[in-house]
Amino acid sequence: MRIVSLAGGIGGARFLRGLRTAAPDSEITVIGNTGDDISLYGLRVCPDLDTVMYTLGGGINEEQGWGRREESHVVKEELAAYGVEPQWFGLGDRDFATHIVRTQMLDAGYPLSAVTEALCARWQPGVRLIPMTDDRAETHVVVSDERGRRAIHFQEWWVRLRASVPAEQIILVGADQAAPAPGVLEAVAAADAVILPPSNPVVSIGTILQIKGIREALESKTVVGVSPIIGGAPVRGMADACLTAIGVETTAQAVLELYGTPLVNGWLVAEEDAGVALDGVEVQARPLIMHDVPAAADIARAALDLAARLAGGAGVPASPDAQREAAGTGTEREAAGTGTEDAR
Ligand code: GDP
Ligand code: CA
Repeated sequence: MRIVSLAGGIGGARFLRGLRTAAPDSEITVIGNTGDDISLYGLRVCPDLDTVMYTLGGGINEEQGWGRREESHVVKEELAAYGVEPQWFGLGDRDFATHIVRTQMLDAGYPLSAVTEALCARWQPGVRLIPMTDDRAETHVVVSDERGRRAIHFQEWWVRLRASVPAEQIILVGADQAAPAPGVLEAVAAADAVILPPSNPVVSIGTILQIKGIREALESKTVVGVSPIIGGAPVRGMADACLTAIGVETTAQAVLELYGTPLVNGWLVAEEDAGVALDGVEVQARPLIMHDVPAAADIARAALDLAARLAGGAGVPASPDAQREAAGTGTEREAAGTGTEDAR
């Protein structure tokens, strides 16, 4: 089975870890968001690609959800001692190495997709990770503050300001000129199922969908989405600030309508959002909190089963290994009310 999943950072990466467990024999292609990318201290930083790569490769800081585990911050301290800006973006020493390698390869002329493949040779994420585009398309946010009305980089709004200043507009600068990276449209064309994980609907999934040709390619496929909004709030982070900026309510219903048809065919919502409905979309309510990998795998399995049913297929039989792995932390899973039986 060939599966394509879009992905932002934390929500995407945690879902993908479940997807890999749920479908161990499938070929999974991940189209990663690069709208968050930023150049800092002369280095190209791709936060979402790295979160996916580190999470699936076992190098992630689990508590934080981004960055490397066993990290130190000597370089950051030294930069601060020189008064170098910005000081609000936290890059650890181990993480710096990734950005150095990436920048070196980009400067040598390799496209980001080739660089990402090279970085993944070390991390072995078990999926094929492709940036949405090799071109520069960066999310900027229009804000009004003491310096007037101006556009700032998404990271400055998200990390420095913690989205506390209202976003008047969220713009993907360079979107008109950006083409899907090599392999993106091919993977979509060959996919049996496409998954929209519970990533930020505006600045992760919404950004990928703005790259020419990607939305259109997805519209002809069986697409199942997982709601990142539960009971009127994001599970973590500040996605509500992004939704408000584009005039969309922070509800599972409004996000479904934002994606809309013919893009989405199936939509997983949490049990408290069981009333969500849209013509032409099959909505299924189930536990959607990714407490751990087995819980994420249960959600992924439900998404794949729904996709298979919508495509008229027989469903994805879980391998015995996957079932054993999914059963790993049974108590926690039961506490969260996410039994595999829900997915079948
Ligand atoms: P980011 O790029 O690091 O912000 O990560 P993503 O865009 O991939 O994901 C952020 C979204 O993930 C947020 O809107 C959260 O609500 C959502 N999210 C995080 N954890 C969970 C979870 O356990 N379940 C669900 N349904 N959504 C989650
Ligand atoms: Ca992100």
